[in-house]
Amino acid sequence: MDAAEFRVRGQEMVEYICNYLEGVGKRRVTPDVEPGYLRPLLPEEAPQQADSWDQIFADVESKIMPGITHWQHPQFHAYFPSGNSYPSILGDMLSDAIGCIGFSWAASPACTELETIVTDWFGKALGLPEDFLSTGSGGGVIQGSASECILVCMLAARAHAIRQLRRAARPPGSPTTTAEALLEEDGALLDDEQVGEETATDSTYLPKLVAYCSKESHSCVEKAARIALVRLRILEPDEHSALRGATLAKAMEDDVRRGLVPFFVSTTLGTTSCCSFDNLVEIGPAVRRHADVWLHVDGAYAGNGFICPELREHMQGIQYADSFNTNPNKWLLTSFDCSTLWVRDRRRLTAGLIVDPLYLQHSNMDETIDYRHWGIPLSRRFRALKLWFVLRRYGIQGLQKYVRNHIRLAKSFEALVRDDHRFEVCNDVKLGLVCFRLRGTDRLNQQLLATINASGKLHMIPSMVRGKYVIRFCVVSESACAADIEHAWEVISEHATDLLDEVPL
Ligand code: PLP
Repeated sequence: MDAAEFRVRGQEMVEYICNYLEGVGKRRVTPDVEPGYLRPLLPEEAPQQADSWDQIFADVESKIMPGITHWQHPQFHAYFPSGNSYPSILGDMLSDAIGCIGFSWAASPACTELETIVTDWFGKALGLPEDFLSTGSGGGVIQGSASECILVCMLAARAHAIRQLRRAARPPGSPTTTAEALLEEDGALLDDEQVGEETATDSTYLPKLVAYCSKESHSCVEKAARIALVRLRILEPDEHSALRGATLAKAMEDDVRRGLVPFFVSTTLGTTSCCSFDNLVEIGPAVRRHADVWLHVDGAYAGNGFICPELREHMQGIQYADSFNTNPNKWLLTSFDCSTLWVRDRRRLTAGLIVDPLYLQHSNMDETIDYRHWGIPLSRRFRALKLWFVLRRYGIQGLQKYVRNHIRLAKSFEALVRDDHRFEVCNDVKLGLVCFRLRGTDRLNQQLLATINASGKLHMIPSMVRGKYVIRFCVVSESACAADIEHAWEVISEHATDLLDEVPL
């Protein structure tokens, strides 16, 4: 495809995208296909000769779209929102066209500098402590997902804990190894031989390390602990699904008594199953009683809401955190992937992650950020562009309006559920998520959800809240309005009526 053809096809694609997004509400929200539906529709092998664009594009509507779940559909109420907006799509388009790989400042200075500036802007807009900004001891970075943010923090905390243990194990007065001296000085790394030597020693400390989270934490915390080869203590939350300070303090003290070493606590503001909030005001001091334990705060969805000052009461205690993540690609109109992570101490983050071969070094390393040290992959997309476009095109006030609209609509949905004696609301509705269920058995609620989803009129998913099967209703669409909520409730209550006719309460 040359530039002349791209101009034509690009315009057609923009037209297609606009028609798709404007008309998505007319489609079934979930596809009506069986597993494996696509294979018989496509050739067994890639074509030897180029297909024409017309042939390719015809297949999109006839073969791909029938298998799409439409996350931007006004009746999609599953999961959390998948951020999307025209400025963000344009940002990704430009990023793809520039096609730079911003692993270091030198690899594309604007890519790095815009990421620092935009995460500072966004951090300020959320009211994060100043330490989290690049002008303080910390700074922000854009990762691909919340899972990555949590893993990276856990790995950094693990490296720090092992350094402390190794230091404590040294006989008093013994000299630091070259490797330790380097890490202490500037987080620089180790030549190959030293890495080998340190790794062998590191593994002896791993069985002692313990991380903590609540039963309500996202499963990615458990996955991170598996990757990091550390124990994870999964703690019981209270009756509001919040982790409390006393529960954590007791678990940590018990572990210390058993000779283990607490090193990482992952908390959540806005849990996946019911949007509950761990109690940071209690957890923070409990963590601080133990030297060098890293406190992470996962606000993958809810964190975006702190752009509204009136919601910041839900992040009280954030001053105790060592790191915080939120995904603009969930609740801030920015397309996947865009997960922002801030740390209080950037040296502590990078100390365990720096590997610096000659081919990646450059002459400005001492005065610039090289984001390859802030995460797992080397190659990085220019993700800051889309967030920059979104922040500028909507403005903070536009984004606040979007968030507030979702909360208002969630409250109106909650009121509809409460007005119907057949149903109960199962979470404290603070943001855009309502968890509800028919007063009856889990089985009945499973049937209700299955028939609604099978109708293709509405899409929701279940979760377990305090041992009960509930249905999650999340407001997700950018242009969500009262009529969408009323329509959703109509569909739900009609299905409930039909079901209860068959299986009375
Ligand atoms: N944390 C929370 C609270 C979430 O709700 C989710 C996903 O919904 C995640 C983490 C994982 O997010 P990601 O898909 O970006 O890894």
